[in-house]
Amino acid sequence: MTTAATITADDERRVLDGVPTGLLVGGTWRAAKGGAVFPVVDPATGETLAEVADAREEDALAALGAAVAVQESWAQAPPRERAEILRRAYETIMARVDDLALLMTLEMGKPVAESRGEVAYAAEFFRWFSEEASRIAGRYARSPDGGSRMLVMRQPVGPCVLVTPWNFPLAMGTRKIGPAIAAGCTIVLKPAEQTPLSALMLGDILAEAGLPEGVLNIVTTSRPGEVVAPVLADSRTRKLSFTGSTEVGRLLLGQASGNLLRTSMELGGNAPFLVFPDADIDAAVDGAVLAKMRNIGEACTAANRFHVHGNLAEEFADKLAERLAAMRVGRGTEPGVEVGPLIDEDGRNKVSALVRDAVDHGARVVTGGEPLPGAGYFYPPTVLAGVGAGSRLLHEEIFGPVAPIATFADEDEAIAWANDTPYGLVAYVYTQDVNRALRVSERLDYGMIGLNRGLVSNPAAPFGGVKHSGLGREGGIEGIDEFLETKYIAMPA
Ligand code: NAP
Repeated sequence: MTTAATITADDERRVLDGVPTGLLVGGTWRAAKGGAVFPVVDPATGETLAEVADAREEDALAALGAAVAVQESWAQAPPRERAEILRRAYETIMARVDDLALLMTLEMGKPVAESRGEVAYAAEFFRWFSEEASRIAGRYARSPDGGSRMLVMRQPVGPCVLVTPWNFPLAMGTRKIGPAIAAGCTIVLKPAEQTPLSALMLGDILAEAGLPEGVLNIVTTSRPGEVVAPVLADSRTRKLSFTGSTEVGRLLLGQASGNLLRTSMELGGNAPFLVFPDADIDAAVDGAVLAKMRNIGEACTAANRFHVHGNLAEEFADKLAERLAAMRVGRGTEPGVEVGPLIDEDGRNKVSALVRDAVDHGARVVTGGEPLPGAGYFYPPTVLAGVGAGSRLLHEEIFGPVAPIATFADEDEAIAWANDTPYGLVAYVYTQDVNRALRVSERLDYGMIGLNRGLVSNPAAPFGGVKHSGLGREGGIEGIDEFLETKYIAMPA
């Protein structure tokens, strides 16, 4: 067992040594064609943690072949059997939470305490969908004219391609794999190149839980375009579920259209955080710390911009800056660290450029504001006050620990600010007036609202966005629908 207080180099080695590094195809771990590998790097040190198989097109098509081969038998497996596999996997993940959290911190950078939170969140999707597996139901009706009987059944969509990002290395996988398994679909999973290790461990855990060979296939690659496109073009594929940037999502939607695939797209965000004059300001600051700093700001749900009523803006900025400035920055394995490194140099350069642009447009740096020197991609928690309307960081996804604060004068202006974006994933609203809370929630063009709360994610709730933030929902009772097809059978009366 490892905790933040006791992590040693031996713990790190032991956890890394336990990760399979091949491709999972038809129940067997194997090398990529030609034996190619690519490195996985620790963003806190820049050092290589492991080398994993670097799949080519041929490997991905072999993985699809394995998924297709068992689709029919897997669809026939009793729902309870599928449920119990998920339940066992849930138990195993929770039993190994410390090792999985350490692995996640090593490859992604977030502090170990946060990684433990993600591991529990990820496992919860398996528990939730184990409970949903037995509740898939259709309906029966007489036609209104009495002339026929109608039977409606729900069946698995078929072989699915799941593509996931690096920021939540385990949960973005289980949020798709859980409902796919519960529904009776087979899978080709392509995890992110920067964080494949958590997903590879999951392959082992599901096999141990009794998942039949070929139901889950995992393809790691440094050539995502070359590997995913042919699988999406293959007529045996039935569905694409993607989480990542809007830019790549749009590209994959185009590819999926050629084969008329069912698609679920969880894309980028640009969450506004609105603080009305009747808000409890201390509760708003607590919520802001969570909504901004969770996952080092590298979350699609991260509060991207704070719109605060003019009367409260200065007090809010000072209190938020005090909290953020006190957060300890460092390697996520060190005790007491609350802010890890950003994922890579490009990510940090983007954050730096956005902050410089805001300052050029007149913003005042209350805390932070410059990248930290030394190894790793560290950027300090930063608060910017008086951010001008033309600043890029009000319009672009920041993906880092930067809180820009702008002001508004009235409710209409706050809503106009909030909706002035092509994105529509989540908005946060702080007010103690229940009428305002509902009125504002109705007018916000977002898939999710955090009302006096800085965290919305919950496996039992429908997660997803509108506009350029995506299509479909993950989690909740809605999540399994994405993996089911409706079949209508007409019968004589
Ligand atoms: P990304 O660059 O879009 O990558 C996501 C996944 O797509 C990765 O597995 C990536 O592989 C793969 N990919 C990249 N180019 C591809 C191509 N041409 N063909 C097929 N696959 C391709 O996003 P990211 O930087 O990993 O993640 C950050 C983004 O994800 C942010 O915009 C964030 O808001 C969004 N996100 C959304 C949600 C949500 O639920 N709405 C949740 C988490 C994150 P490589 O790793 O090899 O590049």
